[in-house]
Amino acid sequence: MTSRRRGQRMPDDEFRRVIDAAKDRHNLSDIIGRRTKLKPSGGREMVGLCPIHTERTPSFYVIDDKGFYHCFGCGAHGDHMTFLTKVDGLSFRQAFEALTGDTFPIVSEAERAQRKREAESETRRRIVAGRSVWHGAVPAAGTLAETYLRSRGITMPVPNTVRFGRLDYFDQETGEVIATDVAAAICALQNAAGDVVGVQRIYLSADGRRKFDVPKPKLSLGIIVGSAFRPGGHALGSGTTAVICEGPEDGLTLAQEQSHSVLVACGTSLMPRVELPAWIASVIVAGDNNAPGRTAVKNTEEALTVLGIATRATFPKEGFKDWNDQLRDIRA
Ligand SMILES: [Zn+2]
Repeated sequence: MTSRRRGQRMPDDEFRRVIDAAKDRHNLSDIIGRRTKLKPSGGREMVGLCPIHTERTPSFYVIDDKGFYHCFGCGAHGDHMTFLTKVDGLSFRQAFEALTGDTFPIVSEAERAQRKREAESETRRRIVAGRSVWHGAVPAAGTLAETYLRSRGITMPVPNTVRFGRLDYFDQETGEVIATDVAAAICALQNAAGDVVGVQRIYLSADGRRKFDVPKPKLSLGIIVGSAFRPGGHALGSGTTAVICEGPEDGLTLAQEQSHSVLVACGTSLMPRVELPAWIASVIVAGDNNAPGRTAVKNTEEALTVLGIATRATFPKEGFKDWNDQLRDIRA
């Protein structure tokens, strides 16, 4: 467990406003583009090789209208100031001066307003796409979605946040449809306020007892960053402790084994980004027993600590890769 660092005051509102205004003058991609070549990646993201860790396939994303970067390889995450201080090695003051000066290309007010409108319409489009899958699905009880959960050792009643549907399976990169009418367990992704803003689809085999036989049988749709699948049902409990984990099967396992609200990030790198309702004061971060799992737990604990939330890490028992394997007594 870590605690908030002493002697480092949180910035007050005015300070925050000044920094935000300085950041707003520049595209983050202009600043990062000096260190690594970035290219557009479907919509509002730019992608390139990570300038922080060594890699051969790009996993470093820059989202200009949100003003942050994120590396799915090493977990590096931050904004203009973080990049200038941590990667370029500037002091906080130098970084601030660089942003208020004319070192980097300056983005006009009109361009920023236009970009904001585009980002808002893209967000709406994503939510509508996710909700249309959710509203087109049926309750999971008695369907292949329930068959799948039972085959994974889930014995509790199927929560109202899981539904069943038959959907196309497609290549996420190219959009090419690979199979039609595939059975899928559909998990609702909710934001902190409880609105359904997306889905994670777990595509299933014809008998529902396994996942669909493709390298990526789970696909998310809608607002993925910040939202979470709630395996205990739509409403969170009133307790002030929550559990955050990575995958739906682990989340369902944890939800039936203990009494805290469980939030499933649906992606290792998304664990630090889950947005919590205001009443949550402490979080148990439940990781997988492997290197990516441990990195995700560390990154999540760091992100929550900054927000003043107490954290504790927990892992499955030695010899089990994840919580659901432990439930089913399947050793790694
Ligand atoms: Zn990286």
